[in-house]
Amino acid sequence: MTITAGVVGNPIAHSLSPAIHNAWIAAAGLDAEYHPFLSPLDGFAGFVSELRTKGVRGVNVTIPFKQEALALAGRAGDLARMAGAANLLVFENGEIRADNTDGPGLLAALGVQGFQPTDGPAVILGAGGAARGAAAALVLAGSPQVRIVNRTRERAQALAASLGEKARDYDRAEDAFGGAAVIINATSLGLGGGEGPTAPFECAPGSAVVMDMVYKPLVTDFLDRAAEAGHPTVDGLEMLIGQARPSFEAFFGHPPPAEVDARAVALAALEAMA
Ligand code: NAP
Repeated sequence: MTITAGVVGNPIAHSLSPAIHNAWIAAAGLDAEYHPFLSPLDGFAGFVSELRTKGVRGVNVTIPFKQEALALAGRAGDLARMAGAANLLVFENGEIRADNTDGPGLLAALGVQGFQPTDGPAVILGAGGAARGAAAALVLAGSPQVRIVNRTRERAQALAASLGEKARDYDRAEDAFGGAAVIINATSLGLGGGEGPTAPFECAPGSAVVMDMVYKPLVTDFLDRAAEAGHPTVDGLEMLIGQARPSFEAFFGHPPPAEVDARAVALAALEAMA
């Protein structure tokens, strides 16, 4: 029987996940399908329930439903609970299991530049859903300190407080950047080619890895300035592929075939949308 999975969001037409998963499905020779699913903004729970009735195996979840997704689950992984958000729902034995693979995706992406969470303090710019997942993953993976800087200070304070003693909020990026091992843009600034967040890279060690979660464009203003200042950089596409890998295994019980160049597939899909 064909195994069906997909990604639920609103909007959803922009998602690169179907291209990545369907390339893996084809290479693995699986009897499976991965679809984009557009949920009504005020009807996510009913939409998911309908997918379950139709025999869908599970779904990735994207903007704006990640918090609602966690609330629907009967069982949730540590990271999803700590982040307060889930991007993966698996329907099994009459139950909904939630997980957060954005965090492992982020860590896998940073690993491309040799970064380990224990290397030193991490700076996260932003305090929205993506920042929550990143901060929780870094704390759980042994980061000595996660520093949160956000336009709305109260949100940074609330996020830091929810993560315990390993996290704290900073008012000024200049102070947060001192001694940082990694600096991550988890704001939506720079999306579509605009200016990225304020980033005084001269205050950070030259070895600090700089990552942007935004991947449209692939080289953002933020990454451009980081590279100019001599920092190793990681783009948001690496994270997207990193979160897709464990999701694929959860849906289809098969690791993504190594022979597929997922980055080339995602880049081609990105170009086709431009
Ligand atoms: P979100 O919950 O809406 O949070 C947006 C964040 O950006 C908030 O911290 C917000 O600050 C800040 N922000 C927005 N406009 C700003 C401005 N003009 N000046 C300063 N700060 C501003 O969004 P999200 O879900 O966290 O997503 C954030 C970004 O990450 C998006 O671009 C998304 O596409 C990307 N993302 C990428 C991946 C990946 O796999 N690469 C995964 C998840 C998300 P306030 O709190 O002050 O409003």
